[in-house]
Amino acid sequence: MHRATKIVATIGPASNTPEILLQMIQAGLDVVRLNFSHGTADDHRQRAEFVREAARQAGREVAIMADLQGPKIRVGKFENGKVLLVAGEPFILDADCELGNEQRAGLDYKDLPRDLKPGDVLLLNDGLIVLNVSRVIGNEIHTVVKIGGELSNNKGINRQGGGLSAPALTAKDMEDIRTAMSLGVDYVAVSFPKNATDMEMARQLANIAGAPFGIKPKMIAKIERAEAIPALQGILDASDGIMVARGDLAVEVGNAAVPALQKRMIRMARESNKFVITATQMMESMIYAPVPTRAEVSDVANAVLDGTDAVMLSAESAAGKYPVQTIETMAAICLEAEKSEQSELDKDFLDRTFTRIDQSIAMGALFTAYHLGAKAIVALTESGSTALWMSRHWTHVPIFALTPRVGSERAMALYRNVTSLHLDTNTNTDRDTALQQALETVVSKGYASRGDMVVLTVGEPMGQAGGTNTLKIVRVGEPY
Ligand code: PGA
Ligand code: MN
Repeated sequence: MHRATKIVATIGPASNTPEILLQMIQAGLDVVRLNFSHGTADDHRQRAEFVREAARQAGREVAIMADLQGPKIRVGKFENGKVLLVAGEPFILDADCELGNEQRAGLDYKDLPRDLKPGDVLLLNDGLIVLNVSRVIGNEIHTVVKIGGELSNNKGINRQGGGLSAPALTAKDMEDIRTAMSLGVDYVAVSFPKNATDMEMARQLANIAGAPFGIKPKMIAKIERAEAIPALQGILDASDGIMVARGDLAVEVGNAAVPALQKRMIRMARESNKFVITATQMMESMIYAPVPTRAEVSDVANAVLDGTDAVMLSAESAAGKYPVQTIETMAAICLEAEKSEQSELDKDFLDRTFTRIDQSIAMGALFTAYHLGAKAIVALTESGSTALWMSRHWTHVPIFALTPRVGSERAMALYRNVTSLHLDTNTNTDRDTALQQALETVVSKGYASRGDMVVLTVGEPMGQAGGTNTLKIVRVGEPY
């Protein structure tokens, strides 16, 4: 069965061996997320090697995303590892405190007291603990506990409504970008960007760090701060794609606002020709249980119906008991949800404006394939942009993107409704020979058979990114 929606899974202790990774890829994993909030450079290096090895065994390219920790503001460590906060009691966040106790906790971001004023609400540990700020005295933030609970070492702090000034890229992030580039990752996800400038800066750093390895990674903005919402169009323009990072976002804007924001973000991303990943707690209960809750099933299905390119797993695949089953279950939910999607060409298709030749061919191919009822679109692409444009509209016609560039092949593993395949071509390859080979590849894999109508796109001369200028329609098995 052809599944259009892609699955991103975080790798961790539960999925850290080539054997499990192979099973995960066979179950439907398309993109691996290396979470740089946990683990050392050597951990990530080994994981990346295992992923490449497992993908080789599976005979399929898998993309790797490096997810930077970003300026997550955290409390320090405690004398006893944790404390219990009680509602109504005072508690102090103290930038000068080395080791916390029942009265006060340290802060990794020393400037936090300068960002706060009486009346502010702080959410700790993903919103499980709530503190009301009563006074700020020098480096001490005096609060009253509104909702108590256990607070352990290094838990995150958010301000309700956002507005904390920590810069988007920390010294650790810059070091991690260099590590990620040396691993040859395809995607870099930036945590907590506030605006387009944060993304432009991250891209510059990644391009500089990637240059010795010949990599220009695609940049993903994690939308998880309140300030990022009004800045979304600018952030989209400065990024290749976004992540609906519902964990931190929910803490800053309130849980209830997230579902509508998810829909808006997915729509805006697609309209801007960018990809989008929906993340966090999608199958949370499968960390411990072999089946998801009804609500989780609905959540994954609704993200598919919203038009997301990919759904993401965090602790479920990194630290859960059932990493392989979670992917299998998620894949089955996606497939079923896609079946129920309207098969009409998106209404907004005709309103889109474009000026590029390659984009015109991409849209023309999509329109043609839809109305002819073609079995497949076969796109010969260098950069993958033809496939990305086509995949911004849902037509139920699967897109097969063939490329000689392994980087493009991996990157396209994330795009909704795109199956990326390898094809050896270069600037000397004859166009019709390449089209013939592409068609044979798709037929030999069983994606199309004799008598099927197939829409092909290619650039002439071959081998140039952005060079797509030709559309051809063939019936499989008939004289070419
Ligand atoms: P995280 O990002 O898992 O790195 O925190 C995702 C989110 O906040 O939803
Ligand atoms: Mn986050």
